[in-house]
Amino acid sequence: MIIMRSDATPEEVKEVVAKVEANGLKVHISEGSERVIIGAIGDGRPVVRDQFTLLPGVDRVMPISRPYKLASREFQPANTTFKLGPATFGGDQIVIIAGPCSVESRSQLIEVAEAVREAGAHVLRGGAYKPRTSPYAFQGLGQEGLELLAEARAVTGMPVVTEVMAPELVCKVADYADMLQIGARNMQNYALLTAAGEAQVPVLLKRGLSATIEEMLMAAEYILAHGNNRVALCERGIRTYETATRNTTDINAIPVLQELTHLPVLLDPSHSTGQWKYVTPIARAAIAAGADGLIVEVHPRPEEALSDGGQSLKPERFAEMVAQVRAIADALGRR
Ligand code: PEP
Ligand code: MN
Repeated sequence: MIIMRSDATPEEVKEVVAKVEANGLKVHISEGSERVIIGAIGDGRPVVRDQFTLLPGVDRVMPISRPYKLASREFQPANTTFKLGPATFGGDQIVIIAGPCSVESRSQLIEVAEAVREAGAHVLRGGAYKPRTSPYAFQGLGQEGLELLAEARAVTGMPVVTEVMAPELVCKVADYADMLQIGARNMQNYALLTAAGEAQVPVLLKRGLSATIEEMLMAAEYILAHGNNRVALCERGIRTYETATRNTTDINAIPVLQELTHLPVLLDPSHSTGQWKYVTPIARAAIAAGADGLIVEVHPRPEEALSDGGQSLKPERFAEMVAQVRAIADALGRR
């Protein structure tokens, strides 16, 4: 919709109409008592908005279609669902992903994997390539971490999800993992999103540290537009003025995303709070708000963890969390 200024001349209106037609769009003019509004009707293909905003007499241009097409519920009303071992994302099942922040050693990983599977987790998480704020902090075991994840899958039968930080590593990580995680810091790494779109494995896309919901959906759109429709979104807290917690959990994002998109929506209460004490309450809140799953950090000895120990649950606390979440899921008619 192109909204003309109240003092726009008939010539200026004519010029805009000609420009709309030159773009192959149909014109619908509505003449109000104060101003003219020109509807430009297309088939959803993008047009360069500034070619209209910059014309004389134009007040503003308001898009009617959403900028993310493939990710929107307008395009696909039914939920996207996909399977990953015992988990089905986007259905009535609550998918639980759990494991350590970082893969640290064979014994650590197998110990956590068996404990979280026992407690009811469906998918094992663990970082091999870690996006750390400090270059001096533990960066992950890299290739060795990937091999350990594959071993943990063989031992426990659980599919694994791990973060990939660079486009050139997508093929390699996809050889070892069942699902690729794109972390908050890389949500707008468009080369990485494109490579993940070309990969033939599901993607867990985490919300950027300061990303709006629309920016997150545009990031998902990149993956979908490159041919991969197995994408799950993950709210992991956003940066606000609050310092009492590591991030601020945007619980609102769960129903908002579910209204706007057909993609499954998960919540990560570990990164969204940053402290183990708050993880279970926020996990409960997420499921109560309608989330399709959780990704939770678990470590057998959090005090020895090489990353994110403070927000990691011990296995027994994780088992309690699962039991509480199960009660909420039951109340909502979910599995
Ligand atoms: C993680 O899952 O360990 C992680 C680094 O998460 P985020 O990208 O959300 O910070
Ligand atoms: Mn972490």
